[in-house]
Amino acid sequence: MRTIIIAANWKMNTTPADAGALAAEIAAATEAPDVTRVICPPYVCLAPVRDALEGTGAAVGAQNVHVLDGGAFTGEISAAMLRGLVTWCIVGHSERRRDQCETDDLVGRKVARCLESGLRPIWCVGEQLDDREAGRAEEVVREQVSRALTAGGLANGELGKSIVIAYEPVWAIGTGRTARGADASAMADAIRGALEANGWTHEQAEAIPVLYGGSVTAASIGEFLAEPAIDGALVGGASLKPAEMAGIVARAATAAQARREAVRQP
Ligand code: PEP
Repeated sequence: MRTIIIAANWKMNTTPADAGALAAEIAAATEAPDVTRVICPPYVCLAPVRDALEGTGAAVGAQNVHVLDGGAFTGEISAAMLRGLVTWCIVGHSERRRDQCETDDLVGRKVARCLESGLRPIWCVGEQLDDREAGRAEEVVREQVSRALTAGGLANGELGKSIVIAYEPVWAIGTGRTARGADASAMADAIRGALEANGWTHEQAEAIPVLYGGSVTAASIGEFLAEPAIDGALVGGASLKPAEMAGIVARAATAAQARREAVRQP
């Protein structure tokens, strides 16, 4: 049974002075042993958030990592620098693909770098609105997965077993629009199919958690968690609000319990 994961992407919000208090408030409001909670603040807030989350069971993630471990790359942060600060890392977020021109090749190499460095990558994929309107959404996302796996040398599912994939339709991020649960579920199947088409076994592909991301709130998360193929959410705007996070994680805990009972009584 796959674990349910709720990951918070704080993007370029909070400061070292206030991030720890917010993280502690969210951790206290979201206690749920069956749900994996991850908070991804900006780099400069990682240390205060790590300290604030100690003993809470919630983990810390970065929002990006460089593909190399060091060198002349002004302003960049490597996996080696993240050691001791985070155990997770978002990779290939659509805002980085848009603003920093990150390609699937680079994203795949970053996923591989995370795995080599012992970080759990939350690898983001997702189509643009015109792709969905043209009926190409699944094809586009399958291609994103294939290209990145090839570039990262990740045709062996054993190497990639700690990967988490976040399906984030670009048109749903920060817009208040969400996909339908059924569409997200179909995409999760397409993503796992793409892993298999690239050399993973069926069991390896089925073991990979697929999250949904795109304007998720406490009110909308239920539709996604009702889909057995969806294993949680990557939450942006709502993740800065403790009451929203409390509602999202409470719903995730209910889904985790229902899934556990379904396994016990097939
Ligand atoms: C995100 O940044 O990954 C995201 C899904 O943002 P939002 O929830 O604000 O759409």
